[in-house]
Amino acid sequence: MSDPEIPLKIRLKAKKVCDILIRYYGKAVSSRKLPPLDELVMTILSQHTSDVNMFRSFGFLKERYLTWEEVLEAPQDELALVIKSSGMYNLKAKRIQATLREIHTRVGKLDLTLLETMELDEAKKWLTSLHGVGPKTAAIVLLFSFERPVLPVDTHVWRVTKRLGLIEQRVSREKAHVLLEQIMPSSCIPSLNKNLVRHGREVCRAQNPKCDDCFLSHLCQYYSSLK
Ligand code: SF4
Repeated sequence: MSDPEIPLKIRLKAKKVCDILIRYYGKAVSSRKLPPLDELVMTILSQHTSDVNMFRSFGFLKERYLTWEEVLEAPQDELALVIKSSGMYNLKAKRIQATLREIHTRVGKLDLTLLETMELDEAKKWLTSLHGVGPKTAAIVLLFSFERPVLPVDTHVWRVTKRLGLIEQRVSREKAHVLLEQIMPSSCIPSLNKNLVRHGREVCRAQNPKCDDCFLSHLCQYYSSLK
């Protein structure tokens, strides 16, 4: 849905940013396509830890338990030890089981395929109404598992879009989900997370961004403020 209060010049700039990112990094959504419960649990494991530790603990979890039903029924302290390498493991074990329990209560089974055909806004509402699930987690599940056109706003997406001047500095990450999906052309949204994360890691780094090598510098508010 587009917001008439968003200035045309911001929309035009967003389109240019999208087109250039696609030209340099491609249009693919992601190589990662996991079942939605896997994505959901991975986002819980990823909190306050590195990708390496998250993937390691997720691997241990999948090795130890064959089904999500087994994870739900496991003793919580046992599950905590299995995912220990992700850090904050007692809390995460509790959250994983609480989330699975809530899904089972609502759906009658541990299955999220109902989200595939649900209207997009409804699917977002459904997921974010789960205890502890915010807009980023909901967007990750919908984008990576179902390839639906949503934009997870992680730290890279948030930083790069603020520096470019697509959203204001004081905009929260939660609000950025709504604004960026309104600003960006819908055709660009599926690949946008992957491309902005790559740009944030390789060029627009948190410390010492490589502005002189950046193909977006002519559009960048932060860069023009340096002159
Ligand atoms: S010019 Fe600098 S601040 Fe702007 S997007 Fe590029 S690297 Fe980031």
